[in-house]
Amino acid sequence: MTAKDIRARIAKVPRVSLACLPTPLQEAKQLSKVLGGPRIFVKRDDLTGVAFGGNKTRNLEFRLAADKASAADTIVMELDQQSNSARQTVGCCNRLGKGTILILEGSAPENIQGNLLVDHLLGAEVRFASSRSEQKRMSQEAVERERAAGRAPCLLNDIPMFDEGSAIAYLECTCEIVEALEAQSLAPECIYMSSSGKGQAGLVLAQQLLGGFQVRGITATNEFDIPPRGAEIANRAARTLGLDLPVSPALFFNDDSFVGENYGIPSEAGNEAVRLFARTEGIVLDPVYTGKAAAGMIEHIRRGDFNSKDIVVFVHTGGTPAIFTHNHLWLDNHSGNLGGKTL
Ligand SMILES: *Cc1c(COP(=O)(O)O)cnc(C)c1O
Repeated sequence: MTAKDIRARIAKVPRVSLACLPTPLQEAKQLSKVLGGPRIFVKRDDLTGVAFGGNKTRNLEFRLAADKASAADTIVMELDQQSNSARQTVGCCNRLGKGTILILEGSAPENIQGNLLVDHLLGAEVRFASSRSEQKRMSQEAVERERAAGRAPCLLNDIPMFDEGSAIAYLECTCEIVEALEAQSLAPECIYMSSSGKGQAGLVLAQQLLGGFQVRGITATNEFDIPPRGAEIANRAARTLGLDLPVSPALFFNDDSFVGENYGIPSEAGNEAVRLFARTEGIVLDPVYTGKAAAGMIEHIRRGDFNSKDIVVFVHTGGTPAIFTHNHLWLDNHSGNLGGKTL
């Protein structure tokens, strides 16, 4: 199967256009030089184009095309306070002329920053719930209130297309990577991405269909057993695309050794990766997801997993507003501009 065949199948899935695609694939020559490693390309999914970008904009093209969501004029969501998904959903709903109500777990912080600040700027109605059960109750209440006011609300958490949409979106993203490299007569050896299984399901599908490269997911959370979760999502997405392609959990390489203390808590290795990308390439990662994934890739490069001719691709899944909620991490400037020196 070719990337073109895959695209033809994806074209049959209901979709709304929201992201700027294809995103750029940039070679990171300074980063590669500092690491003394393989050729590194960064897939700039932080540049998907809606409210600071990120991977969720791709899956929202499928999610918001689902019948219930497309018929709605108001989208209600239960999410976390610093959710990248919430920010991108509000931005995308604005583009589609839909209102948004965010029911976020926790209490209003003193200093409103990062994604939460952007949610406000984008005009979402923001409410806080003290617990998961309170969150459920409040979202039901919001749905009923909207209905009583004559609007057509939809609770986005009820639309199962999140997982599958991410898998299909990242199958397409991998096609973009392969096509962009092919245009330079190159091919990837290994693709790295921060994933808790949804996006990686798409990368693994692409690997099975196109062949010839490794996929290494690095997770930012211990919440899931990723190989069975990823395989289940991949198989569902394959069925939607009419592909007879059983994917087994054994096909999922997902490294959980870069989570650090916990989800959402920056780690030393992750912060070093954020600084390194910034100071070698002018690329801003984030300390919650992409920094930790980049730390995994960097460690694998340093231990010698690749030779200098290999092509390694890092998918930048976004999350950049998180640098502002952790501002103290970037004020220590001791390593300065790298100027070609190794760290
Ligand atoms: C949500 C998110 C991820 C994880 O995405 P999966 O769909 O689980 O692959 C990775 N990076 C960022 C920046 C995210 O916001």
